[in-house]
Amino acid sequence: MACFQDVVIIGSGASGSVIADELTRAGADCVMLEAGQDYIAEEYPRNEMLANARLYWSGGMDATTSANLLFLRGKVLGGGTVVNQALLDRFDDLALDDWRERSGVDFFSTGAMARHYDAVEQQLALHTLGRDEWNRNAELYARGFEACGYQWGSLRRGQSNCRVAENDCMACLGGCRRESKQSMPVTFLQRARRQGLQVETGFLVERIRHHADHVEVTGYQDGEFRTVRARRGVVAAGALGTSRILLNSGFGKHLPALGERFFSHPQWMNLALFDEKVDAHKGALQAVKSDEPDFRRRGFKLENVFVGPIGASMLIPEHGRLQQRYMEQYRHMASMEVCIRDVVPGRIRVDRKGRLKIRKPITGEDLRRGRDGVSVVREIYEALGAREFITSNFNFSLHQMGGCAIGQSRDQAVVNPDFQVHGMENLHIADGSIFPSAPGINPSLTIMANSHHAGEKMRALFGDRSLEGVA
Ligand SMILES: Cc1cc2nc3c(=O)[nH]c(=O)nc-3n(C[C@H](O)[C@H](O)[C@H](O)COP(=O)(O)OP(=O)(O)OC[C@H]3O[C@@H](n4cnc5c(N)ncnc54)[C@H](O)[C@@H]3O)c2cc1C
Repeated sequence: MACFQDVVIIGSGASGSVIADELTRAGADCVMLEAGQDYIAEEYPRNEMLANARLYWSGGMDATTSANLLFLRGKVLGGGTVVNQALLDRFDDLALDDWRERSGVDFFSTGAMARHYDAVEQQLALHTLGRDEWNRNAELYARGFEACGYQWGSLRRGQSNCRVAENDCMACLGGCRRESKQSMPVTFLQRARRQGLQVETGFLVERIRHHADHVEVTGYQDGEFRTVRARRGVVAAGALGTSRILLNSGFGKHLPALGERFFSHPQWMNLALFDEKVDAHKGALQAVKSDEPDFRRRGFKLENVFVGPIGASMLIPEHGRLQQRYMEQYRHMASMEVCIRDVVPGRIRVDRKGRLKIRKPITGEDLRRGRDGVSVVREIYEALGAREFITSNFNFSLHQMGGCAIGQSRDQAVVNPDFQVHGMENLHIADGSIFPSAPGINPSLTIMANSHHAGEKMRALFGDRSLEGVA
């Protein structure tokens, strides 16, 4: 493919799509390269195994070098926003004050971010789940919190018409066939395509060659080697994907912070067995959340979630007959997940073949936070009279963050406060990789807000070049 565009965007998730919308609206010629495939809504896989195989990197089994933590990340047009739970939260002072202190970037405050949050929220249908949408798992969650004197709240999701009464929301994690979930293909990406965005799927980017006046992106599309040239590049491949591409491009030599300070909100899944049927697989998958200020201070939150049968069978720490006995009680299971705001950083590297090597210890303060959260879940289920309590013996991560932290200094950060790679002003990043620390809050709305901000800054740079004459 011979092309010389204004902008090449790598990755189509929360960041890439918002930036694509911003730039194409201003008339820039943009091409987006995405390793995953493009699905029309009704073609999203119809069962858990196919969803994992087709929509996730490594079938949902990306792991650290010591296999202590599994990473789930979307590999599909729309990235994580196609497979995620679409819980959209703004960051609080605790998260943004920490970012400001670590990065020296002054726009990280609830006041300064509000304009960007407002701008992206205006493009999304947002819905706060009401009591009429609760399933039994949510009822048990709220009742248990009240029994123990903890505060809970209602979740806000990006959804337009879930028709909860039809009972199949568990399928949401394999892509929303109703086009209700506010994923990128039905929101920002759809608009960007209408505005002229060119999309290349099945394109695995391997490297970037950086030049003062353009970037050259190379990779494989359907097995064939390809090169795309553009005046500017946006790397929006998510924390792991972006760090991998930059490391493979040899940028680590000039950027000592590349691949450092990787965070992941490690999770501990807990199941409780009740005599009554819970049927947690029916109705809204998640409806309520922990709103307990003391949990935020202690560094964890408790998630009201459930898993499909394949996921549940992997979480039960048993084999054979015992595992079968548990799985027979699937309809009697309630679940609650502990998600921590991790403070022990991991490190992303690549091996000689360019494959990810991720180190992410769950030790010290992080282990303490996880155990603290699990003990609270146990207390809640005991108060509810659960018959049995099971904690999964491995951890997993849905939120990968950091590796290309934003900050003033090149010694400690990869990206400058204008969302440009230090020393490479025509290479921009605003995805989850720029997080200076773990917020302990769902990240995707903030990734979109940062990307809106970055897109605005890029438009200003283009002002008298490709966007000349565009209103
Ligand atoms: C099951 C699940 C549930 C989640 N629930 C929530 C939630 O409720 N709320 C929330 O805020 N967050 C949630 N998240 C996390 C959220 O989806 C991510 O934080 C967010 O999508 C990250 O945005 P991003 O733009 O950084 O990367 P992504 O959205 O992951 O996009 C990166 C894209 O780049 C592509 N890519 C990567 N490498 C390459 C390459 N080499 N070449 C070409 N393309 C490449 C990927 O395929 C992907 O499409 C969830 C995640 C999962 C997996």
